Amino acid sequence: MKWKDFVYQQVIDHCNNSGSRTFSLQEFLRAKLQIFLNFRPDNKHIEAKVRQQLQFLRDDKLISFLDNSGHYTLRGIDLLAPEAEETKTIDLSKEIPEKREYIVETYVRNVAWSKQAKEILGDMCLYNNCTNTFFREDGTRYIEVHHIIPLCRGGEDGIWNLSVLCAHHHKMAHYGDARTKNSIEKLLHNEVRRRI
Ligand SMILES: [Zn+2]
Ligand SMILES: [Zn+2]
Repeated sequence: MKWKDFVYQQVIDHCNNSGSRTFSLQEFLRAKLQIFLNFRPDNKHIEAKVRQQLQFLRDDKLISFLDNSGHYTLRGIDLLAPEAEETKTIDLSKEIPEKREYIVETYVRNVAWSKQAKEILGDMCLYNNCTNTFFREDGTRYIEVHHIIPLCRGGEDGIWNLSVLCAHHHKMAHYGDARTKNSIEKLLHNEVRRRI
């Protein structure tokens, strides 16, 4: 088997194990180093080799680079076992039910993007000049970061697909009927395009 095909197979396996299609080079190598060493025992530069193969996979549009510091996302979501994320959702909901949605999104999200989303988009809900807000103990406003196109529908885990919403409108974006969801999606797309 070629290096590229082997690395791709391992990426899919890694994402299925972690329940997230976003991963960092560091965690990927940590999880798979022994497997790569077994694959080509004579290779002395595994990290460089894997990094190169990830670039080839990007050129083939099989994965995307989220930044220049080794964060990737697997593009074909159909490659993920559907129950992988499901299981995590259920486990998390047992711990803190009211934060289920939020935590699941945080889990699959690149933290750097989320920070940047708040810096660029601000800390007020983007839904129709909504003024729904409150302050946290540390003096900052509470705001939730939301994927405009959900990851499960092929949305990217990057700044261009992120938005900020208050808790109420965030729930609306997830649990509203089809018409509500569509109109929020459109509205957020326009708002974000205006700002970035
Ligand atoms: Zn959301
Ligand atoms: Zn709102």
